[in-house]
Amino acid sequence: MFLFKTIAALQQHLQGVRKRNKPIGFVPTMGALHKGHGSLVIHSLERGHYTVVSIYVNPTQFNDPKDLERYPRPVSEDLAFLNDLECDVVFLPSDEEIYPETGLKTPSVDLGHLGNTLEAAFRPGHFEGVLQIMNRLLDIVSPEYLYMGLKDLQQMAVVRLLIREMEYSCRLIGLPIVRESHGLAGSSRNERLSEEDRNQASIIYKTLQETSAHFPHLSLAELKKAAMDRLEQPPFRPEYFEFVCTDDLRIISSKEDCQGTVSVVTAVWCGDVRLIDNMEMR
Ligand code: AMP
Repeated sequence: MFLFKTIAALQQHLQGVRKRNKPIGFVPTMGALHKGHGSLVIHSLERGHYTVVSIYVNPTQFNDPKDLERYPRPVSEDLAFLNDLECDVVFLPSDEEIYPETGLKTPSVDLGHLGNTLEAAFRPGHFEGVLQIMNRLLDIVSPEYLYMGLKDLQQMAVVRLLIREMEYSCRLIGLPIVRESHGLAGSSRNERLSEEDRNQASIIYKTLQETSAHFPHLSLAELKKAAMDRLEQPPFRPEYFEFVCTDDLRIISSKEDCQGTVSVVTAVWCGDVRLIDNMEMR
């Protein structure tokens, strides 16, 4: 496995890969890697793509400075994790490498409703930071395939728009949520939960499953009320629990508002740790 900390060294290496006609699969991460990240890397490797993983905790996408400060950064464990998976390249840039003194422009992408709903409403500025870093990383790596997790459903929709608007030629591949044994969606932030809270946080997954089971015969208002009541148990505090049309993530208030499949998206605080999850309804 190769490790590069500068753009120049990475790009020189990737030039050689391109000469061999090997497609590049890219997995951008913020580190503190877990099985969810691992599944993206494994998929890329299994498809025969030359797999580049970036580890960079992007400051501009954190709306809360304390969240940025507390974000775990176990770099040597991450490198060992990727080495065990036989990943091809790790890109581990510094802030200076990513954000030059001359400054970076946020790409002008009209996010429409995605820019002011759900995560965007509760994390102001978050997706502007995501656009900025993804634009930068896609320019640097120029992958043929980009692997992302469906856990961050809205982020994927935002990146899909970025790819379209900026005319990147890469294909975006979304992969299913990987969960811990008791159902909690894998997240780097889970490490900040106590063992007890981490076990109890399975309440989020159970609530999604229950919502899915009752989806055919209850109204969305009834389902939402039952879910919010269930999630409102200290130390848990739901921030939102919404039904959306899976295709465009528009919030709906009745099943008839969506022609295709419906998903539930939710954000729940556990103490000072914010957890997100989602599930497509049957
Ligand atoms: P992050 O390091 O949190 O920025 O995540 C990097 C990538 O891993 C993103 O595309 C996430 O959607 C994806 N990811 C994070 N957690 C999971 C998970 N539990 N299952 C699948 N993909 C995930």
